Amino acid sequence: MYGKETSSNQIEFNELITSSKDRQNTFASFNQIMIESLQKKIAENIQNGLVVCHGHSHPFIGSFHQNFSLGDFTSFMEMNEENPVFKNREVELVGCLVTSSQDINFVFYDNKYQDFYRFTNVFARDQNNNLIPVNCYGLNQSEQPNNNITRK
Ligand SMILES: [Zn+2]
Repeated sequence: MYGKETSSNQIEFNELITSSKDRQNTFASFNQIMIESLQKKIAENIQNGLVVCHGHSHPFIGSFHQNFSLGDFTSFMEMNEENPVFKNREVELVGCLVTSSQDINFVFYDNKYQDFYRFTNVFARDQNNNLIPVNCYGLNQSEQPNNNITRK
């Protein structure tokens, strides 16, 4: 996904490119179309506030379908460390996981402090442009009564 930081620690994604719509597939592929799209997007948006989100999903298989696996964190750190535009924070990189329980977990790796941060307020826009809370990290936001959707 591609997006922008719209205010401090608040990101809005408005573009999605995917290699597969099959969320039951356990094979993660980062195909040539995605690589070319990413290269083009980065070239056009250096220091333009671009945020890239590398997302994948976990089907209901194995032990780690409800959250990120250790391998996910490792490959996410590698993607950050091995690409100078991400490493130097010219383009921000976040990770995303759609879990087997349909939560959408976003994570940010701060390479300066070598620490991970999670986003616990996640929203989607409906057809009327209203913000709808999305469940993440098992916090069941969308089921909370009086969820203040203007809170960021
Ligand atoms: Zn994973």
